[in-house]
Amino acid sequence: MHIDARQLNDHSVIEGDICIVGAGAAGISMAMDWIGTPYKVILLEGGGFDYDERVQDLYAGKLSGQKYYPLKSCRLHYFGGTTGHWAGFCSPLDEIDFMKRDWVPYSGWPIHRKDLDPFYAKTQSILELGPYEYDMAYWQKQHEGLEPLPFDQNVVYNKMWQFSPPTRFGTKYKDTIVKAKNIHLYTYANVVDINANENVSSITSVTAKNYTGKQYTIRAKHFVFACCSIQNARILLAANKQASKGLGNDHDQVGRYFMEHLEIISAELWLAESSPLKLYSWDFTTKRPRAELAIQAKTQEEFKILNGTVSFSPLEAARKRKPIIEVWQSDDPRKNGENLFKNFNKKYTPEELEQMKKATSRAYQLFTRIEQAPNPNSRVTLDTEKDSLGMPRAMLHWELTPFEKRSIRKIYELLGLQAGKAGIGRVKLFDYLQDENDTSWPSFTGGGWHHMGTTRMADDPKQGVVDANCTVHGISNLHMTGGSCFTTAGAPNPTLTVVALTLRLSDHLKKVMGGKSIG
Ligand SMILES: Cc1cc2nc3c(=O)[nH]c(=O)nc-3n(C[C@H](O)[C@H](O)[C@H](O)COP(=O)(O)OP(=O)(O)OC[C@H]3O[C@@H](n4cnc5c(N)ncnc54)[C@H](O)[C@@H]3O)c2cc1C
Repeated sequence: MHIDARQLNDHSVIEGDICIVGAGAAGISMAMDWIGTPYKVILLEGGGFDYDERVQDLYAGKLSGQKYYPLKSCRLHYFGGTTGHWAGFCSPLDEIDFMKRDWVPYSGWPIHRKDLDPFYAKTQSILELGPYEYDMAYWQKQHEGLEPLPFDQNVVYNKMWQFSPPTRFGTKYKDTIVKAKNIHLYTYANVVDINANENVSSITSVTAKNYTGKQYTIRAKHFVFACCSIQNARILLAANKQASKGLGNDHDQVGRYFMEHLEIISAELWLAESSPLKLYSWDFTTKRPRAELAIQAKTQEEFKILNGTVSFSPLEAARKRKPIIEVWQSDDPRKNGENLFKNFNKKYTPEELEQMKKATSRAYQLFTRIEQAPNPNSRVTLDTEKDSLGMPRAMLHWELTPFEKRSIRKIYELLGLQAGKAGIGRVKLFDYLQDENDTSWPSFTGGGWHHMGTTRMADDPKQGVVDANCTVHGISNLHMTGGSCFTTAGAPNPTLTVVALTLRLSDHLKKVMGGKSIG
């Protein structure tokens, strides 16, 4: 059922078994997982069903460090969350992404890929993807002509991506949520504070507000924050009346290790003979899976590099695109969305579009998507300035290190060697990668709008904010979910993992609840 909180009386008290804060990919997936259970689930969403400038403005905040997208517009603040803008690229993290790698500081999740596998499989249908199959051989049987480049598979392999339509959670799942009897969705219920018991070992309630000036108290047995990385950290830090540094922040971990995927054009591939590179090309009509080149775990270890992938665009078309970091600079996310669409589609002549469809070319631009190494100085903190609901605004300091750049360079050196050995052509590194002593980043350096870290998962409370079950260390009924819990970022876009991790938490909470509802 749906309740617009603006219509409630001031100081209303709402009670349920589970309270989920945030109705984006994570929050909606979690709520749907509880439909038909004996539990009363409260789903609190800060916005309404549509874009509302007054709500979106609550996301505005300051930036420092590496140039980034405006905080106000890089996430959407209404029902469905940022899936209103996402592009639908999906692939699971690799086994190595979960491992402690002695060459990657602060790496090592307390869980493994196999712990997420059953939940990845469940996520496929939520994101309207195909079967849980990311093996190239499987997809070669489904589609003709998906020939890999003749590279040594012990060094470079083909990592598959599937494409969601993309699922817009706000429209696709609105009816499911609203019609579910035990899901109580409150829109315009923006959580601004968290209230704990006396010794701050469990949460008693949260406080929500909206621009009518009313405020509400929500009580539950368990609280799950699914507001994405920047807001998850902001809320914990701002809840500082009982714990002066913020909840879950005894060891100064909340907000730290903010991670993005570096997405950056890096090289050109000049083939001896023209080829459509069908396995690696985007199919506009069927949106079938495609591959990106990835470096094998053993080779990553040998050269002590981060995990990253390489995708291909026909060079002529790619050269006409503006860098995404330039295109997405408005405070209005809708305007940025339009600019992005134009950048990718509008500038081409029909002949060029036809060529892109066939993607037959001798020359390709190579695009890197690479994990950012966990870095405690790359972080979300609170500003002294407050938003219209009285909450301190978020500040983001995005900081890269020379490690990311060295890794990108090495990936292309390896590809260049492979291309030479196979005699298929040459890889030409961009100027910014030529000098190995140059640690600066070019003006077109960008991120994938993938927010991770900030409430990272670690067994040791001194190394992270949540434990292996996404529960905040020391606070038994406070759980965080989504990208904020990622210990490391891996190379793939995060939403598949965001939802899988959320379903794993959901499964855990069902066991913890043991069938006892407040009703
Ligand atoms: C342009 C763009 C393209 C992208 N493309 C891809 C892609 O191809 N593949 C991919 O995997 N990912 C992609 N992403 C990232 C993807 O959108 C996110 O990973 C995903 O939306 C995260 O889901 P979430 O539920 O954690 O956060 P969100 O979807 O942001 O949802 C958070 C929800 O919490 C609500 N909320 C926030 N604060 C509060 C509060 N205090 N009280 C109550 N509610 C609150 C918000 O209104 C929102 O509904 C893209 C993002 C952008 C911007």
